[in-house]
Amino acid sequence: MVLDASGALLRPAELPDPTPEAGQVLLRVRACGVCRTDLHIVDGELTRPKLPLVPGHQIVGETVSASKRFAPGDRVGVPWLGWTCGECRYCVSGRENLCDRARLTGYDLDGGYAELVVADERFCFPVPDGYSDDQAAPLLCAGLIGYRSLRLTGEPEAIGLYGFGASAHIICQVAVAQGRRVFAGTRAGDDETQEFARSLGAVWAGDAASGPPEELDAVIVFAPVGELVPAALRHVRKGGSVVCAGIHMSDIPAFPYELLWGERVVRSVANLTRADGEEFLKLAPTIPIRTEVEDFSLGEANDALDRLRRGDLHGAAVLVPDMPS
Ligand SMILES: [Zn+2]
Ligand SMILES: [Zn+2]
Repeated sequence: MVLDASGALLRPAELPDPTPEAGQVLLRVRACGVCRTDLHIVDGELTRPKLPLVPGHQIVGETVSASKRFAPGDRVGVPWLGWTCGECRYCVSGRENLCDRARLTGYDLDGGYAELVVADERFCFPVPDGYSDDQAAPLLCAGLIGYRSLRLTGEPEAIGLYGFGASAHIICQVAVAQGRRVFAGTRAGDDETQEFARSLGAVWAGDAASGPPEELDAVIVFAPVGELVPAALRHVRKGGSVVCAGIHMSDIPAFPYELLWGERVVRSVANLTRADGEEFLKLAPTIPIRTEVEDFSLGEANDALDRLRRGDLHGAAVLVPDMPS
C-alpha cells in the first residue's frame, strides 16, 4: 500500500521485491501495526516522508533468508528507528533516539504495509514467544515508545494516561503490574473506552479535560491534543511531570505560569533506542501484557487509518497481509 502524496488515500500497488543490501534482512511481513504516526504522515502533519512511501513501522516478519544475526524463518520485529549514524553527539551518548541523521521506518524507509520489507538487522528485535503475529505487532511502537514515556515519568504512584488508545492500553497493564494507580483520561462521554480502561485495571476513567478527583504524580498525554497539556499540568501535584508521547500534537494553548510553577515538568518523548526495545520486549511476556487487536487485510489499510482517525478502535489496528481482502 503506497502513499503518493500527503492527504491522498493509500494505493494498492505491485512493487518489485525489495533486495536486501549488506547488513539488511529480507522479511515476509506477517503483521504490521497501524500507529497514529502513520496517520500523521498520511494526513501531512509530518511533512517530510519519502514519496512514494510504503508506511508502517510495527512490523512482525519472518526472515526469508539467513543474515548475520538471524536464521531463515526467524520471527523478527522492525520498529520505527530503522538506522542511526552511530557517530553524532546523540548516538555516542546512548541517545540514538535523537540521532541527527536517523532514518525512520515507514517514513524515510519503506515500511510494513506490504508483503515484503527489508530492514537493517542491527535495529530489529527478536519477537517474544507467546504472542501471535498480530498481537505482537503493537508492542513494537505503541508498546515500547509508551514504555519509554512511562519510564520518563519517574516513579509515579498515581499516573494519568490521557488518550486511551493502542499505547495506553498496553502501558496501563505495565503500570498496574508495577503497583501504580492508573487514571485513564478519554474524550468526554466515551463510556466504552472508559469501561475498557477499567477492565485493564484503571482505578478511574473519565473525561481527560476535567481530570480525576485527586492529584496525580504524572500524566502521559497520548492524544495529539495540545489543550490536554495545560489540563494535565492542572492535574499533577508539585514536582509532577507531564510527558507528551506523540510525534505530533495540535498547538498547546498559552497558560498561566502558575500551572508550571512548583517544579512541574513538561517534556516530550522522541522515538526509541534499541535498549528500550530490548528491555520492553523482555518485560512484556513476564507481566504478561495482552494486546487487544483488530485485524485488517492490507487492502483495508485506508479503512484502518480512518477508524483510528475517528477514535473508533479498541486497542490497536493491525494489517495482516495473508488475510483475504
Ligand atoms: Zn547519530
Ligand atoms: Zn508508532
